[in-house]
Formats: sequence, structure tokens, C-alpha cells
Amino acid sequence: MFLIVYLIFCLVIAAIATSRGRTGIGWFFIAILISPLISIIILLVLPEAGVPAAHRVTQNSDPQKRCLYCKELINAEAIKCRFCGSDLTSDENGISVTPPSGGPRISPPRHGD
Ligand SMILES: [Zn+2]
Repeated sequence: MFLIVYLIFCLVIAAIATSRGRTGIGWFFIAILISPLISIIILLVLPEAGVPAAHRVTQNSDPQKRCLYCKELINAEAIKCRFCGSDLTSDENGISVTPPSGGPRISPPRHGD
């Protein structure tokens, strides 16, 4: 009888572990080896797995570059700075960008002038 209750507790821990983004079968065996009471405490003390890790991955997979005008970090593929609104379409490697002011500007020819 005690063994059945013990195994039910282990299954409950496995279910909790799965819902918290951990391996259910692994926690089932942990609960069998060390008592279910201790393993459920460890499970509740441990932070939820999956969410912070996934968050880190998305941050790293996003290539970023620094805006030449306002020096804010923006997406490497951005064509317009989201902080200062500068046009970044002409830059290839983040170096050759037309200056925002002062430099010679090629204006389109006017008609009827
Ligand atoms: Zn900017």
C-alpha cells in the first residue's frame, strides 16, 4: 500500500516537473531515489526551466549593430534607426553611411526651374 502511494507521489512530481519545463521521467526517478517529499521541495525551489533559456537564445540570435548617429543598438538588418529615425539603407558594414548634415547631398533634379 505504501509503495502505491509512493509511486503516485512520484507521478505527481513528474507531472509538476513537466509543467515547469523539466523532464518528467527524470524527476520521476529522482522522486523514487530520494523521497518524493524532498524532490518536490527541490522542484519548487528551482526556477522554471525553459523560459529564461529561450529568452537568452532569442537575444543572442538577433544580430545587432550600433547606429552611427545616436549610437544606440539596433537590428543589424534595420534600414531605419528606431531611435533617431536615420536612414541606414546605404550602409553595407556600418561604416559607409551618408552623414546626416554638412556633407554634399545629391538632390534630385527639379523640373520647371
Ligand atoms: Zn539612431
